Amino acid sequence: MLSQRGLRSPRLRNVSLSSQRRLLNHFITHPAEPIPPPPSSTPNTFTLAVKDNIATTSPDLPTTCASGILSKSYKSPIEATIITQLRMRGAVITGKTNLDEFGMGSHSIYSHYGPVSQDDISETSAGGSSGGSAVAVANGEVELALGTDTGGSVRLPAAYTGIVGYKPSYGMISRYGVIPYANSLDTVGFLSRKINPIKDLIVGERGLWKEHDSNDPTSLTVAARKRCAAQRKGYHGQGQSSELKGLKFGIPLEYNIAELDPTIRDAWAAAAKKLQDAGARIVPVSLPTTKHALAAYYVIAPAEASSNLAKYDGIRYGVRDTDASSDASAGGVLYASTRGKGFGEEVKRRILLGSYTLSSEAMDNYFIKAQRVRRLVRRDFNRVFALENPLQERETFELSDLPEGVEMEDKWGPEEVDFLLCPTAPTMAPKLKEVMEQQPVDAYMNDVFTVPASLAGLPAISVPMKVTPEGAAGLQLIGQYWDDARLLDVADAVV
Ligand code: GLN
Repeated sequence: MLSQRGLRSPRLRNVSLSSQRRLLNHFITHPAEPIPPPPSSTPNTFTLAVKDNIATTSPDLPTTCASGILSKSYKSPIEATIITQLRMRGAVITGKTNLDEFGMGSHSIYSHYGPVSQDDISETSAGGSSGGSAVAVANGEVELALGTDTGGSVRLPAAYTGIVGYKPSYGMISRYGVIPYANSLDTVGFLSRKINPIKDLIVGERGLWKEHDSNDPTSLTVAARKRCAAQRKGYHGQGQSSELKGLKFGIPLEYNIAELDPTIRDAWAAAAKKLQDAGARIVPVSLPTTKHALAAYYVIAPAEASSNLAKYDGIRYGVRDTDASSDASAGGVLYASTRGKGFGEEVKRRILLGSYTLSSEAMDNYFIKAQRVRRLVRRDFNRVFALENPLQERETFELSDLPEGVEMEDKWGPEEVDFLLCPTAPTMAPKLKEVMEQQPVDAYMNDVFTVPASLAGLPAISVPMKVTPEGAAGLQLIGQYWDDARLLDVADAVV
C-alpha cells in the first residue's frame, strides 16, 4: 500500500507510447487565472511559463520538480527571485511546465507526470530537461519560458524544438528559489522564439544582469558586476547592436566527433560560411579537454545531486510513505521506503552514482579527478577567447596538468576568438520511442557539446540552425564569461 497522497512510479519502460498518449503533456499545472504582475510593473505584460523546479507561491501553482517525492502537495513558502523579478517586469504566469525529475535527463521522459512530446503524431523528443517549457514556447502558448540549465537543459530542448535557448553566465541570474540539482552548475535559462524578448530582459538599464541577490550566495556582488561590465567596455547596459564584420568565431576541432550526424555537420559548415560572407572571420581552435568534459560532468553533477537530494526523506521534505515504520529499530525503513517509492529511476541512478563517487574509496579517482578536468576545461576556454575572464587570472599551462591521453602539440592555435561556434547537439531531435529504448548512458551523449560551457560557467545560446518537418537542430554560440550582452547581439545577427 502507498500513502494516501499516492506515491507512484511512472514505470516508463513498461508502458507503450500509444497508451501514454496525452496531448504533449508539457504543462503540469495551470493557475485558475493567469497570475498577473504586481501593480508596480510596466504596462508591457508578457506571458510566461515556468519550469516546475522554480518556486512559485500561488496556491494553485505547486512546485513538484516532476517528482513523486514532492508531488502536487508541495507548496513553496518562497517565490524564486527570478519570478519576482520577471513579474515586476510584466510577466503573467500561465503555468508550470513538465521536466525530467529534478532536471535530470535530456529528453523530458523521466517525469512523474509522463514524458513530454513536441508533437502528437510523430512523438518527437522535446529535449530535456526543460522540454515542457520549450514546447510551450514552440507552440506559441507563451512568449517566454523559464528553464534551468545545469549541463544543457535549456539549450538542448531549444535546439530540438527549433527555438532560442539561452544560458547566462553562472552567477548573473539569482538561483534563489530554484530547487538545486547541482549547485555549482545550475543556472536559470530563458526560452523564446526570438532573441529580442530575452535581450530586453537581460541587457539595458533595467537589465537583469545588474541585479545582485543577497539570498543567493553565488550571485555576483554589485562590485564584481561593475568590474565585469567595465572589462566588457561598457557593453552591458548600452544595448549596442553588433556588427558581425571583424568578429572572430572559433570552430572547436574536437567538436567534430565521429558520432556527429552528417546533416548537422553540413548545417554547421553552412552557418560558418554565412558568417564568413557577412564579414566575420572563422578560425579553427582547439579545446583539448573537451573529450573528458562529459565524463567529468557526469561525476560532478550526480555527486552534488546526491547531496542535495538527501533532504527528501519523508521527514524534512517529501511525501512520507505512511505505511513504513519510523521506528529507529526498523533500521531507517521510513527513509528507504519513502525515497524508494518517491524518486524515479533516473534520479535513483544519479544518487547511487553520486554517493559512490563521493565515497572514501572512490573520491580520489572520480570526484577529485573530475574537478581537475573542470579546471582544465576552463583553461581551454580562457586560452582561446580574446577577452580575459574577469574572474580568473590567465593561467599558464603545465604539461603535467593534462589528464592522460590529452595531447597538446599542434592543437593550440594562436588565434584568439570572440565566440565559439558549434552544434548544440550531435543529432537532430530523435523520436521518443528511440530514446526510451536507449541505455541511459547513451542518452548522456546528447550533452557532449553543452556541458563544457556549463563546467566553465560561460554564457551560451542555442539558435535554430536547421528546422525541417522531420526535426530541428540548433547552432550553439559560446562567449567568454560575462560577455552575455554581446553574445545575445551576435546571436541575433546570426539567425
Ligand atoms: N542532461 C543533463 C543531465 O541530465 C543536463 C540536465 C540539466 O541541464 N538540467 O544532467
